[in-house]
Amino acid sequence: MGTYHQLTGAISPGGLLFTCEEDDCGRRLVIDRDRGEMVVIDHGDPFALHQGVVGGVEMSPPRVVPT
Ligand SMILES: [Zn+2]
Repeated sequence: MGTYHQLTGAISPGGLLFTCEEDDCGRRLVIDRDRGEMVVIDHGDPFALHQGVVGGVEMSPPRVVPT
């Protein structure tokens, strides 16, 4: 527990797409900037702490509501 993964952000048609850089994790999520919603596509490693980075600027992690 307590390992940090880095999410790299990229602009996609659906909004900001974040992909985890760890090969064995694969967490992906999209932030819809129009609606201000975050949609998790792939949950990845549930024990890792994910930090998002866009263009080298860190942003505070969005609140994730367990589904
Ligand atoms: Zn990850």
